[in-house]
Amino acid sequence: MTVPIAKLSFWGVRGSTPTVDPATWRYGGNTPCLELIAPDGTQFILDCGTGLRMLGSRWAAPNGGKTAETHILVTHYHWDHIQGIPFFSPLYVENNEFHFYSFRSKFLGRDSLKQVFEAQMAMPYFPVDMSAMSAKRKFKEVDGGDSLKVGENKITAQWLNHPQGCLGFRIETPAGTVAYATDNEPGDAKLDENLRELAAGADIFINDAQFTPEQLETTRKGWGHSSWLEGAKVARQAGAKTLVLFHHDPDSTDRMVDAILRQAREEFDSVFAASEGMVVTLGAPGDRVQAHMPGTRTALRREAQFHAKVCGVTEGGKDFEEETMVRDISLQGALISLKHMPRLQSELQVTMEAPGADGVQTMKLRGYVVRIDAGAEKGHSAVGVVFTD
Ligand SMILES: [Zn+2]
Ligand SMILES: [Zn+2]
Repeated sequence: MTVPIAKLSFWGVRGSTPTVDPATWRYGGNTPCLELIAPDGTQFILDCGTGLRMLGSRWAAPNGGKTAETHILVTHYHWDHIQGIPFFSPLYVENNEFHFYSFRSKFLGRDSLKQVFEAQMAMPYFPVDMSAMSAKRKFKEVDGGDSLKVGENKITAQWLNHPQGCLGFRIETPAGTVAYATDNEPGDAKLDENLRELAAGADIFINDAQFTPEQLETTRKGWGHSSWLEGAKVARQAGAKTLVLFHHDPDSTDRMVDAILRQAREEFDSVFAASEGMVVTLGAPGDRVQAHMPGTRTALRREAQFHAKVCGVTEGGKDFEEETMVRDISLQGALISLKHMPRLQSELQVTMEAPGADGVQTMKLRGYVVRIDAGAEKGHSAVGVVFTD
């Protein structure tokens, strides 16, 4: 007997607008796009933010079938949820077939999402028009309260509280249930109830956590977003198992998201902050929900041997302290004191020695000069490098 497993991948987690600031690099700068592969092989895509381009460039046809069918659920038409569409390369491949689901906007009328496609690619906004998109596209309107079946999976849509409307989606698969509720502001009794219905008993509850609770009460009231505190509250009320904080503010640095996550974990047991490249599996034996962080997003890795003391918190919430060895280290850059003055934006070869229990090891790295402070030390320059390989 095979165990049904669903795989949920986060391709874009940032709200409002993409960020390229290095301070937001760890959680990622692409706007909302998730992919869910259900146990029956059905491929769902949730929202078409800029993360969709990355998904397209790693495209593997679902099911390996002749016609690659994909079901794309779009929550609403704000830029950050549709901006990836023209840059999604599988739309330009004839054999692919896409089923789009979204609501009829009162501002657009019939075939709202189709109109969004046309408007995005109209002149002078994009170099080619819709005729270049050779994949088959089918559009289906869904309304709040609607349910539909795709393969073995049941999808339910519910209205959320957001300017010009937004749908939340609940996808029930044989491996578990995912509730995707981004772009929602608490405070409307009926729509708050919708949110709890979406999240009821969900294995994964993905919720808007753009603002801090303080911002939500003051300067950002009425902007259509939520906070980690609201997410934790709803997760508890609805009996959701794991909460994923999503739609990070473009002004939130990685350190700020870390702090948000830390606070949320004090309020609710199982919380993750959505991170670009994160993959969550549902239905794996033993542990129903497992999260994996992307190896590809970590920086350069080198074997090393450093003595280290490690202090932290266990999975069970206990503090611990342990003496150990660092076996492998990832490096992004360094500040090096040099008598020579290297050229800005030139390459340096850096060989470092790492002493350890088994003797001295050398680490060879190529660095790219990003900063020079000439007067930092007499006769020396402080040279900032980013390691490139
Ligand atoms: Zn948004
Ligand atoms: Zn929005």
